[in-house]
Amino acid sequence: MGAYRGRFAPSPTGDLHFGSLVAALGSWLFARHAGGQWLLRVEDLDPPREVAGAADRQLAALAAFGLVSDAPVLRQSTRDAHYRSALESLLASGRAFECHCSRSDLAATGGIHRQCVAGARRRDPSIRLGVPTGTRLAFDDAVQGRVVQRVDREVGDFVLRRADGYWAYQLAVVVDDAAQVITDVVRGADLLDSVPRQVLLQRALGLPTPRYAHLPLVVDAHGRKLSKSLATLPVDGRAPLPALRAAWQVLGQVPLRLSGAAPVSKWLHAAVDGFDPARIPSGPQPLPTAGVSA
Ligand code: GLU
Repeated sequence: MGAYRGRFAPSPTGDLHFGSLVAALGSWLFARHAGGQWLLRVEDLDPPREVAGAADRQLAALAAFGLVSDAPVLRQSTRDAHYRSALESLLASGRAFECHCSRSDLAATGGIHRQCVAGARRRDPSIRLGVPTGTRLAFDDAVQGRVVQRVDREVGDFVLRRADGYWAYQLAVVVDDAAQVITDVVRGADLLDSVPRQVLLQRALGLPTPRYAHLPLVVDAHGRKLSKSLATLPVDGRAPLPALRAAWQVLGQVPLRLSGAAPVSKWLHAAVDGFDPARIPSGPQPLPTAGVSA
């Protein structure tokens, strides 16, 4: 694998929130610690869920935290032709197939698709990747350790292009991680169970598999995943240090000895020097009380 290239790939469904800041800072620290590059990608694949102006506000917030892409930001809304050609090659090789099943058709199998059971043909079928029976995928995550998934039983044949015509995240992320020559994917642990699907797609498309590290999720005082209101709580880019310190704490790092008035660039520099990936906890972490106003 070539020189380290990491990335952060937010979906523009709202302002940058604290959980995203942890993923952004974590992926940036891994990249800088390895002397590598860090790239940004806007995952604007899903217009119905997109919030107008959110992508630009997220990028501006990241810049206020000193986190700036080393290459032009890639926007998935401009990548249609690339997803189309990947899909065509999967259809041509017989790995992907048209599917007329609706959500209710699949209710009996808990939403897992193993064979088409469509009650009716749809005008706009979805396209799925076929997952052969017995498909088991194992990988070593740098934070979460060994992960094993029986993809056929736990996920089933999965969607590459939705019935509404939009591209599925799994296809786009694999095409774009390869296009951006990403060697290391560092992101929140909520995406851990997507890795086997992404590896299957990489193999089917003849693309390299990056290394993976999944960062702890942030939970509330009761150990629940942050509620929508807390999760979407914007972090304040005008006073970046408290939020950066709080994200650093979630990443299990030893507090930096820097005055509260240090500029962000100085804080980030010290953070790269002090960063120890082995200290990152795998399990959910409480929302720090300081640095994130609730
Ligand atoms: N766009 C996804 C999100 O905001 C992240 C995808 C990824 O990092 O692979 O949750």
